[in-house]
Amino acid sequence: MSASISRQDWEQRAAALQIQGQAFVAGQYQRAVSGETFDCVSPIDGRVLAQIASCDQADAEQAVANARAVFDSGVWSRSAPAKRKKVMQRFANLLEQHAEELALLETLDMGKPISDSLAVDIPGAANAIRWSAEAIDKVYDEVAPTAHDELGLITREPVGVVAAIVPWNFPLLMASWKLGPALATGNSVVLKPSEKSPLTAIRIAALALEAGLPAGVLNVLPGYGHTVGKALALHMDVDTIVFTGSTRVAKQLMIYAGESNMKRVWLEAGGKSPNVVFADAPDLDAAAEAAASAIAFNQGEVCTAGSRLLVEASIKDVFVEKVAAALKASWAPGHPLDPNTAVGALVDTTQIDTVLRYIEAGREDGARLVLGGNRVMQDTGGLFVEPTVFADVNNSMRIAREEIFGPVLSVISFNDFDEAMAIANDTIYGLAAAVWTADLSKAHRAARALRAGSVWVNQYDGGDMTAPFGGFKQSGNGRDKSLHAFDKYTELKSTWIKL
Ligand code: NAD
Repeated sequence: MSASISRQDWEQRAAALQIQGQAFVAGQYQRAVSGETFDCVSPIDGRVLAQIASCDQADAEQAVANARAVFDSGVWSRSAPAKRKKVMQRFANLLEQHAEELALLETLDMGKPISDSLAVDIPGAANAIRWSAEAIDKVYDEVAPTAHDELGLITREPVGVVAAIVPWNFPLLMASWKLGPALATGNSVVLKPSEKSPLTAIRIAALALEAGLPAGVLNVLPGYGHTVGKALALHMDVDTIVFTGSTRVAKQLMIYAGESNMKRVWLEAGGKSPNVVFADAPDLDAAAEAAASAIAFNQGEVCTAGSRLLVEASIKDVFVEKVAAALKASWAPGHPLDPNTAVGALVDTTQIDTVLRYIEAGREDGARLVLGGNRVMQDTGGLFVEPTVFADVNNSMRIAREEIFGPVLSVISFNDFDEAMAIANDTIYGLAAAVWTADLSKAHRAARALRAGSVWVNQYDGGDMTAPFGGFKQSGNGRDKSLHAFDKYTELKSTWIKL
């Protein structure tokens, strides 16, 4: 049982791991065409875990040509949905059977607590694959309401070759949100994991093959964004690019598409999500615990992190104290391989420098530091930051406007409903928002007023595969999860027949 695996056991397993760092093309692991590699460094202790193939344009050419040939062969793209379902169910089962190995790779690679990798990332990835698989032989096409002597068929076809470019904060989970619907609808995929977290993407390619996915349907190209990522985004034979990552890179991908073949571009980007607590919240302790988790879970490296906590002025002081107490009690940084750790290491030195710079900016801009503010556990060689709370923030400060992507909370107070909604929506982002109130009408009015793709009422971060996930405004377009995700991976065709 995973729960009984001690830190020492995990460390022994880590020492014994054989880590694969090569690209996966046409059903085989291979070196980058250039032969170049880069170090995969663990943020837990600075150890080099593996040499990773540094793919570039030559690898993109090879993988896309291969993906196209397999797509055109029809071996996957024209196979019966029920057959694709079976293969993907086996793939999901294999992810579960290898859950401990995959969780260990994820934690070593990007620093999140092993208990989260085991409870959230790997089961979530298997679930995403299985959900899409199980749906695909239950969706029907349409017949248009035409005149009597005509027949109008509205059908969906796979788009062809999909390039999926994904981030490092939930490496396998974000990849699976793309792979599930992309593969279920019959496409060929070239997956580019983040250079900061390539290990699980590389590993699962072999599991997909073992499950029966035909060679070439899933290819994995590790490497940097400005080399292989850019090559895929500019490629004339990639039909669709699906992306999760920063708003900066998302905008760049739209430019690349315009400069090349007008490939479809679907983007899941950044956030600065408001968590709005009214004085009539049904349970202030529960709200405070959720606010703590919303900024500390996954070290704050979450696109939907509740990084702006908006609190009604009459309860501000008392509520900030409760949040600080909850963070102190339950969210201390610790060794990621210790099963009791709640907050792990930040992904790399660039990221920890960014987070520490924002903490400095909060101080400079006049916010009041209530908790944390420091790098800790430096003797481990790892990259750890205390959960940090700033009060007396106003929405024009840098720590309120910019996505920090670390455990840094900005508390802003408001006086009434309209002011709360105005502050909440005063952001370039629109990924998520939460509202806490016992007043049903107020909750619904807030849900309508908040310009965000997900709104939570009296909870933070709810949802599962049945509901779409994605952003308004500069948080992106299109949606992951649910049947709506299939729209990104299919073209609509109208066939008009004269009878
Ligand atoms: P990032 O934008 O730096 O990188 C994401 C991916 O894009 C990586 O694989 C990277 O190599 C690649 N890339 C970088 N430059 C590129 C280029 N010029 N051409 C092609 N590819 C390029 O983001 P990140 O730091 O990996 O992830 C953090 C960001 O992801 C945050 O902004 C976070 O909010 C966002 N995110 C969003 C969601 C969501 O569902 N909306 C989910 C998770 C993370």
